[in-house]
Amino acid sequence: MLDKKVIDIVKSTAPILKEHNQEIGERFYTLLFSRAPELYNMFNQTNQKRGLQQGALAYGVYLAGANIDNLQAVESMVERVTEKHRALHVQPEQYEVVGEALLDAVQDVLDDSATDEIIDAWRKAYQVLANYFIDMEKKLFQEVEEQPGGWVGNRTFIVERKVKESDLVTSFYLKPEDGHAIPTYRAGQYLTLQADIDGEKYSHMRHYSLSDAPNKNYYRISVKREDARRDAPAGIVSTYLHHDVQEGDKLQLRAPAGDFTIRTKDKPIVLLSGGVGITPMMSMFNTLIETEPNREITFIHANANSKVHAMREHVENMENKHPNVTSYICYSHPTDEDKAEKRFDKEGFVELDWLKSVLSDNQKDFYFCGPLPFLQAMDSALKEWGVPEENRTYELFSPISTIGE
Ligand code: FAD
Repeated sequence: MLDKKVIDIVKSTAPILKEHNQEIGERFYTLLFSRAPELYNMFNQTNQKRGLQQGALAYGVYLAGANIDNLQAVESMVERVTEKHRALHVQPEQYEVVGEALLDAVQDVLDDSATDEIIDAWRKAYQVLANYFIDMEKKLFQEVEEQPGGWVGNRTFIVERKVKESDLVTSFYLKPEDGHAIPTYRAGQYLTLQADIDGEKYSHMRHYSLSDAPNKNYYRISVKREDARRDAPAGIVSTYLHHDVQEGDKLQLRAPAGDFTIRTKDKPIVLLSGGVGITPMMSMFNTLIETEPNREITFIHANANSKVHAMREHVENMENKHPNVTSYICYSHPTDEDKAEKRFDKEGFVELDWLKSVLSDNQKDFYFCGPLPFLQAMDSALKEWGVPEENRTYELFSPISTIGE
């Protein structure tokens, strides 16, 4: 238990951490990797280079500090982080080296304004937070181990099939090498891949949403190839998966995890996706079709055009077969063929007026996934339409902590 004085100090200084979150994050990772270089294997080095993880970490610490006397208020952040830690297999002892680096980073960045009293209060608060997270993660690990076919750490899977879904997206059908059962998962969850690529000094960990309904004898992930652009090199792991990994090859995977899951039953549901954000929505879509045949499902997908639109035919087939399913397509850059064959419902982006015109009302659950600008646009449109926060659920494919800040 923290005493009132410590709580007051932590809460009153939390906004300073928020103000300096990028600098503290940068200093923290410099200290952390110099003290524990093996952690390079656990953190996404591209996100590090792009400065995405630095701000996210200190922002998370700020949120936890600001709510140190009522962690329930940041339950969704805590759940997202603990699920990530489960996916990455974070160990209790790693909290110590992280805590030391964090406090030293705060001290270094805030300099004289970080008095001994302030640092001491944050040390106590960090310990409480670390114990809270460690306890939650212990339960999550136990849950995974107790599931039929469950496992902790890496497990070898064989790529049984590689299927091209569009010019950019390829699906990988994965079966365990040991031939034993694989655990079920909740639609919307992801696998974590540890890629050890020839010539790379460290492992690369990446999450990939499961893109089919659970309870099959395989897992399916669908990966977008991140090609090089003028201002950025090609994505490391997606290029490796597309170009180097072939059917019959082995991959090291960690068990399904993630908090982006459907939490209601019966209520009309809208699954909105942009680009490769279609993957968790496809898992939800296929699961709902199997388990809730009477639930009203609207599937909306936004993309550039049909060349890069994955799994289009499958959604159309499902719509034709199931009267409870309606689907819409928005193309921002339709090809001439798309136009000639009327392969889309709207040219341009998904906008509120259009959503209002195709959905009878806003009394629905909205789940959405896609690039950050898509998520931000959907969230603010739905907010403007009066859809409450608890009915707007999204998944981010990057480490930033919130789409709002
Ligand atoms: P990275 O090497 O990580 O590069 C990422 C991007 O940054 C690339 O576009 C690259 O061009 C750019 N970049 C690299 N270096 C720089 C630099 N110095 N400056 C600026 N830009 C740079 N992806 C899927 O395809 N399908 C999924 O189902 C999926 N599900 C996900 C689920 C979750 C929960 C999360 C968090 C992510 C998911 N992702 C998914 C994203 C996936 O984990 C990877 O981030 C993605 O495949 C890119 O990894 P990479 O190694 O190929 O690219």
